[in-house]
Parts: sequence; structure tokens; C-alpha cells
Amino acid sequence: MFIDSHCHINFPELAARMPEVLAQMAHNKVTHALCVSVDLPDFPQVLALAHQYPHIYASVGVHPDYEDTPEPSVEQLVQLADDPKIIAIGETGLDYFRLQGDLEWQRERFRTHIRASRQCRKPLIIHTRSASEDTLRIMREEGAGTDAGGVAGVMHCFTESLEVARAAIEMGFYISFSGIVTFKSAKELQAVALELPLERILIETDAPYLAPVPYRGKMNEPGFVAHVGEYIARLKGVSVEQVAEQTTANFFRLFQPQS
Ligand SMILES: [Zn+2]
Ligand SMILES: [Zn+2]
Repeated sequence: MFIDSHCHINFPELAARMPEVLAQMAHNKVTHALCVSVDLPDFPQVLALAHQYPHIYASVGVHPDYEDTPEPSVEQLVQLADDPKIIAIGETGLDYFRLQGDLEWQRERFRTHIRASRQCRKPLIIHTRSASEDTLRIMREEGAGTDAGGVAGVMHCFTESLEVARAAIEMGFYISFSGIVTFKSAKELQAVALELPLERILIETDAPYLAPVPYRGKMNEPGFVAHVGEYIARLKGVSVEQVAEQTTANFFRLFQPQS
């Protein structure tokens, strides 16, 4: 069995075909999915999905790419996270690829999420793109890692270097690979995945984006995370069952869902 540790099934293109999406999960033995929040206006729908389906978990947070959206406070995030189906804070982080200019607001928003995570003791889901240095610096300054009394979390849809992965792991974080790792062009990322211990790896789809091979270019969905797991098994020369079991155990060890 696999778990999709990061998807956006509340987005209209997936929400509109929920029965099909859930059937595809069951067919591919994907037992759970974590539906990740990207802004506060969408949060009620994310929470509703988690309440409706026992095997769907949720998070609360505001994505770094969402510029014109209500800014969350630490108190607000902590309050919204106070639900057994909310198992993480995020997605949060820094994205210097999609947005340019003065991004101090992004860094402030990231700090707010780390403080909320420390306060409510729920792990962080971190998005980092072309900003790994600042991401790691702020994680350290705010005490995000278990080494600093934080709850750690996951570096999601990882595309950075082995050094960045190791630095995050040292702070107690997990590294999550999406369908990108299955792309022919992703040689460097494949080398990173090969190097990292399976005990620190999660798998995800980031659906509806980034469908893995053989669905590249199509709409992604949580069931397709099985292809990410199968790819990593091939890459590492271990059995698919081993990857499924270990990444599932990692998910539960990190997020510790209460229901
Ligand atoms: Zn992301
Ligand atoms: Zn995402």
C-alpha cells in the first residue's frame, strides 16, 4: 500500500471527479492521501474533504506563490489546525522561481507557519524552489527542526541538491519525491533519491500537477503515486513492497494522525 503525502484534490478539476479519483486510489492500493491547503479561503473545502472521507487527511497553510490572499497569523493557523484530521502546517516555504522582486512578505509568512508548527506541535510541509539557502536559514532561525525543539516535517516535491536534502534530514526532516523523479530529464534528482536512505523518503503526487511517467502531461491524481513508488524501487534496486511499506511507515511516524 502507498500513501500520497501531498495532493490538492480540493482543486475543482479533481473535486469534480471525486468518485473516480477515489476509485483509482483503491485500484492502485493507495490507502491514504494528504490534501494540502494553499490558502485560507479554500481551507473549509479541504477540511470538509478530510471530514467526509476517513482516509483523507488535511493541512492548513498559505502557499508562498499566493500573493493576493489573506495573510494568516500564528494564532489563526494554530486555531484552524485544532482538528484531529489536520495533521500538518503548510504548504509553506519560499519560491523565488515563480515570483521575483521584494519577497520579504514570503519570508515573513514562512516564519509565521514555523511558529504555528512549534506552537501546535504539528509538522511542516515545506515548498522550496530556487530558494534553498534562505529556506534552510529561516528554518534554523525559527527552530523548525526536531534538533531545535520543533516538530520537523517534509521538504515536499523535492528538486534541490543532495547537500540541501542532507541538511534538512539532519534537522529531522523527510524528503518527498513527486512524479518529477520519474522524468527522463531528472538525472540529478534521481541521483539524490538513490543516495538518500529509504527511512527518510516520502512519496507524493502534488496532483493535479506533475503526473509521473507514464502519465506525464496528463492530469495527475493520488492513485498515480504508485508509479512514483515503483520508480524509486527500481532506482534503488529494492522491491516495490519494501518502498510501499517503508514510505507508509515514514508517513505515520512523521504525521502521527490521531484518527
Ligand atoms: Zn508546493
Ligand atoms: Zn502542493
